[in-house]
Amino acid sequence: MLRTLFISLIFITGLLKTDATPDLKLTKITTSIESVRDQRVKGRGLDKIVDGDSKSYYWTGGQMQVGQVVTFQFSQAIPIGKTVKIYTGLGIENREDDDSFRDAVLESSKDDAKTWQQIATFHCGNAEVKAPFASSHYRIRVTKNSSYWGAIRHLTISDNPLTQKTITGATILNGKKYQLSATVDLEGYADLEKNLTKTTDLYVKVWPKIVQWLGANPDTAVRNIDISLVNTLKHPAHASGHTMTLLTKHLRNHPTDLEGVFVHELAHIIQAYPTYQPSWFVEGSADYVRYRQFPDRPWAKSARARMNNSKPLGHYWNSACFLLWMEDTYKKPITATVSVALQQKKYKETLFKELTGKSLEQLIELYKKSEYRPKLSSPEM
Ligand SMILES: [Zn+2]
Repeated sequence: MLRTLFISLIFITGLLKTDATPDLKLTKITTSIESVRDQRVKGRGLDKIVDGDSKSYYWTGGQMQVGQVVTFQFSQAIPIGKTVKIYTGLGIENREDDDSFRDAVLESSKDDAKTWQQIATFHCGNAEVKAPFASSHYRIRVTKNSSYWGAIRHLTISDNPLTQKTITGATILNGKKYQLSATVDLEGYADLEKNLTKTTDLYVKVWPKIVQWLGANPDTAVRNIDISLVNTLKHPAHASGHTMTLLTKHLRNHPTDLEGVFVHELAHIIQAYPTYQPSWFVEGSADYVRYRQFPDRPWAKSARARMNNSKPLGHYWNSACFLLWMEDTYKKPITATVSVALQQKKYKETLFKELTGKSLEQLIELYKKSEYRPKLSSPEM
């Protein structure tokens, strides 16, 4: 492709020396990712991946596209069984998991980069693998277009054990079996494994419910999620694509709240809306799901105490209550219907009129006067 630009760097470094492979050096990195002319990527070249600083990063300076690659060539073959790990994302002190590689694979070559074999998938921004065969050629390949730039921080070759854990489980929905998996990278967070195991058990239980509450198609709904742990975040969690990012401080200090946060974020993953609009519905329906799962938890009780009927489009809990009120009043799965329309890019505000006979504005006025309070038990549909 004409737009594809090859940048190549050649250098010798002692960085990758290990006791077992003292002469191993990275000799060349190339990429097919085109960088835009943007001041922000200045000084963020490929050399940042191997400068020995795990915080500095190479920045693509452009949205990642399917098929783009970053290729690494070593001075000699990395022996079988070595742990190869590549860290992406801006990293701690740099907005953490932003710009991590979420849909990408790690490949290796047996024939001097003529053909490639996939040896790992990126999870939680990182790819790690015990080298399945000796090779001096590795590459990252992007498998899905992304609206984000990509950042690669670091590459290590070691004898360290693998730290990514995947839990799997099966669930039945409408008589059909669905296999689910969740992967977390516990490097530096081994103490959180117990908290997370409980949460990932919940994942298998709650997935079919959220799919139904949001009217999602179980055949296409995300079934393999990544749980990224980060130390610095202004909020407890967020989700993007199939990745949920959790703040470690929140996990440690508020383990009981974690399950509710997890359900809210899982709702976002299953929503898979192409846009964040209308934002009151995006956040309101995620809190609606959280409430339906845990109507008796302290979160729901304190949320009821601080609800405000005058702000139905106030996002989060106030919007969740507005949705619950609509469903209680009109006895229809309104959230699911609107959610499907959003997912399929067919949403129009007139949908509320079709469902209730009232325009959104009229519904808002009725709700404001209603003094509605959601029940403290799971609403049945
Ligand atoms: Zn949210």
